[in-house]
Amino acid sequence: MTVSLRPNDLSAFWMPYTANRSFKANPRLLARADGMHYYTPEGREILDGTAGLWCVNAGHGRREIAEAIKRQADAMDFAPTFQMGHPLAFEAAAALAAFLPDHLPYVFWTNSGSEAADTALKIALAYHRARGEGHRVRLVGRERGYHGSGFGGMSVGGIVANRRQFGVHLPFVDHLPHTHLPQVNRFARGQPEHGAERADALEELVRLHGDTIAAVIVEPVAGSTGVLVPPKGYLAKLREICTRHGILLIFDEVITGFSRLGAPFAADRFGVRPDILTMAKGLTNAAVPMGAVAVTAEVHDAIVHGSASAIELFHGYTYSGHPLACAAAIAAIAIHREEDLAGRVRNLEPVWRARVHELDSATGVVDVRDIGLIAGIELAPREGRPGERGAAVLQRCFDWGLLVRVTADTVALSPPLIVERSQIDRMVETLDRAIRAEPS
Ligand code: PLP
Repeated sequence: MTVSLRPNDLSAFWMPYTANRSFKANPRLLARADGMHYYTPEGREILDGTAGLWCVNAGHGRREIAEAIKRQADAMDFAPTFQMGHPLAFEAAAALAAFLPDHLPYVFWTNSGSEAADTALKIALAYHRARGEGHRVRLVGRERGYHGSGFGGMSVGGIVANRRQFGVHLPFVDHLPHTHLPQVNRFARGQPEHGAERADALEELVRLHGDTIAAVIVEPVAGSTGVLVPPKGYLAKLREICTRHGILLIFDEVITGFSRLGAPFAADRFGVRPDILTMAKGLTNAAVPMGAVAVTAEVHDAIVHGSASAIELFHGYTYSGHPLACAAAIAAIAIHREEDLAGRVRNLEPVWRARVHELDSATGVVDVRDIGLIAGIELAPREGRPGERGAAVLQRCFDWGLLVRVTADTVALSPPLIVERSQIDRMVETLDRAIRAEPS
């Protein structure tokens, strides 16, 4: 299929998180995808180093998923899930619950990671109210965290650029410090040794706010900010402090879920049990938008059995459990199981680690971080012009047939989990060339 667009045809779409003017002056368009590759409208092949946007974990164009969506579109386009139901929404929730850690048996459907974050925060507040602890209204995020674009997610989020344009955030929000400690952890392979004590800041927030904290939300591995891997022991410490103070722990697994870390979820990989877990992206392999929030029986029962009203939770979306999304999720989860994508990641991780850390010595690389099939390659910014170098590297990679993602001057790699070793080689070689091409 060819797509021809005249320059002015690009104007109507106000693109998200994009420098619209610069993009439209020099567009990068993707028109087709298959397996590990995208194809531009002119048919140029681009190796996908980012699984789209951290989401096409099982690779592009999965026939099983496309066929499930088509079958469902023919059978029934839509059915409400407010006071009605359709079988696939229940079947998909059961399939997801069986893929999740055992202690998270209940699933609430959303349409995105942002909605999942806001839903999780609301569930945490409703949980405490249902238990007679309505004074627990405070939500704690973390510096450099990303939990999507809704008001809740933005407020607990900690990426400064995403907050400062809007001025007003949710009240009663506080933040933990981030865990990026380059002085002691630079070029760490896998989980860094130092920084578990950063979780102790939660004790200080408890001292400050008393028993008013409802929940702490963190990404087990911070993705959007430029890949920050949790220091050894950090997440377990956070869990322990939350438990001790009656605070719910929410893992935002929108990026870390669905086999990316060599286990179905980061909670499995790190052996830490959150009370609430949010997900999206890989859930449907990104073929249809969908998000979800999984909760423990304790959280579910407190609200569902503890509520005095017939409707236990006054929350939901028209498209919660959309039939096409449910069809896609069931098919995607089946692929993760049948192809043991988590096992594939475990096998590839040492190769991935060795190869991405070959970039440690490239001029201008100030840190390389990795875990599972994720890597962050941090570049020194151009003098007084942060972000320019990252953008230049992205453009060179694209011109040379590789899709990477950049946050300021950190390049992120997170390929589909079906990646072959030879493709890892190509990714690293292309990125190396793109970094070294920087004029000194
Ligand atoms: N949470 C995390 C950790 C994410 O990485 C993202 C998106 O990148 C979101 C939430 C928001 O998801 P969405 O863009 O589907 O709303």
